Amino acid sequence: MKTEIPEVAESIEVRNPADGILVGHVPNDAPDTVAAKVRALRHAQPAWEALGPKGRKRWLLKLQDWVLDNAERINDVLQSETGKSRADAGFEPVVTADLINYWSGNAAKFLADKHPRPHGPLGMLKKLETVYRPYPVVGVVTPWNFPFLMPAFDVIPALAAGAAVLLKPSEVTPLSAIEFARGWAEIGAPPVLAVATGYGATGAALVDNVDYVQFTGSTGTGRIVAQKCAGRLIPYSLELGGKDPAIVLADADIDRAANGIAWGGLFNAGQVCVSIERVYVEEPVYDEFLAKLAKNVNELRLGEDDRGYHFDVGALATQSQRDLVQRHVDEAIAAGARAVTGGAPTGVGTFFQPTVLADVEQSMSCIREETFGPTLPVIKVRDEQEAIELANDSRYGLSATIWTGSNKRGRRIARQLDSGAVNINDAYANVFNFALPMGGWKESGVGARWGGQSGILKYCRQQAITTPRIPLQDRELNWYPYTPSRVKLALGLMRAAAAKGRRRFGLDHR
Ligand code: NAD
Repeated sequence: MKTEIPEVAESIEVRNPADGILVGHVPNDAPDTVAAKVRALRHAQPAWEALGPKGRKRWLLKLQDWVLDNAERINDVLQSETGKSRADAGFEPVVTADLINYWSGNAAKFLADKHPRPHGPLGMLKKLETVYRPYPVVGVVTPWNFPFLMPAFDVIPALAAGAAVLLKPSEVTPLSAIEFARGWAEIGAPPVLAVATGYGATGAALVDNVDYVQFTGSTGTGRIVAQKCAGRLIPYSLELGGKDPAIVLADADIDRAANGIAWGGLFNAGQVCVSIERVYVEEPVYDEFLAKLAKNVNELRLGEDDRGYHFDVGALATQSQRDLVQRHVDEAIAAGARAVTGGAPTGVGTFFQPTVLADVEQSMSCIREETFGPTLPVIKVRDEQEAIELANDSRYGLSATIWTGSNKRGRRIARQLDSGAVNINDAYANVFNFALPMGGWKESGVGARWGGQSGILKYCRQQAITTPRIPLQDRELNWYPYTPSRVKLALGLMRAAAAKGRRRFGLDHR
């Protein structure tokens, strides 16, 4: 089990939360160490940018081979520091491989110069170009829930853009990020990826030194990061907390809804930013849905897995996370809810029984606050309208699901939800489709990751270049010296180009 260690410690102990066994140590990087890492990255970055998207693709595809060839060991490291089930760990290397395909395969097209048409006749005198140049050093700060995949989500498009990257993983789970960087070094790639390990102060030092911050973590820390970035006038993107609603309508396939919501709420022991954290069910199907969901959840196998896929749900990443889940369940029960299944820690490591809560009210902490654990609170609603209103009644707006027999109805309701993504009759589907944006509304974030071209252009500065198309005189009409005839001619031409109808040829009447 994790123990509290003062932030001044020289190194950080990493323990398996499932059994408390010590599995590694990492340095607690001081601010000057972070600054030195950024300087080295800054030095290496121009050559990386100069390789161009095709040259970078070669290295990214070598990394893909390395990830797939080392997947079993990566999964071992993942399990050792998170206590997650083997199946949950298994997603991380394969989705990483898919991400590498997407960004390495599309970067050249996405980063290609643009040659926009001039908006008016005077613009015809110039050749216009927009080019995309990376921020030299991108800082990526990640949480503990997907310690290999979460870095991959953002490091890969930043590298594909031509930036160098400093990665700061969570102090709770730094070992998988170190594996990621080890892979990069082992394939002999240019030194444009480094890892800084440490607590919040190390992350703060990263924000003090890089040129762009991609932050994933809690809303509270995201707010601090945004304020610091504003002080330095550097751009940032924030992927923050969520409290994702599921709406189950009376016309839904209730078996699919109960299966999908069990997985969507409990995958990775519920420690997913886009996990289903509250369920609104139309009255006519409430009892049937609740019974089926409770049966599904009751059958889940909870425990410390090996390589054999023996368990469905693993441990929580920290003791404090387990305590938070316990508080939400206890407060709900004290306020009149009922645990249909689960409801307590197992007493071993940080395991908490997968839990379904019924008779839940919108005012309870299990509905108002992010839980990030294996709980599914269920609320009965009168109709579709009440479900939409309650789903939108949240400070968060990351993602939502709708379960219905009519895709058309689902898409109509989706447009009424205040949420960065809506999946109909499925959970997480948008996360595995990199052509779509993954971003939070309201307090769930600022900006988005992916979304096709915009997911790589966010790591670039736009540069406008103009080149003359015609032979040049020694001076332009609007340059010095200003004389009445030259000024009238220059402004007259500009007016003619900008105005419509007779105003095009109007004179200056003053
Ligand atoms: P956290 O905010 O405590 O920490 C996230 C990271 O920020 C860690 O690496 C931490 O060391 C670092 N950090 C802490 N203080 C910092 C500072 N002042 N400056 C810079 N970095 C600092 O979050 P957590 O507990 O590790 O992760 C859980 C949270 O992450 C949940 O709220 C979850 O919803 C969110 N999350 C969001 C997404 C998403 O894509 N929206 C994905 C996964 C997790």
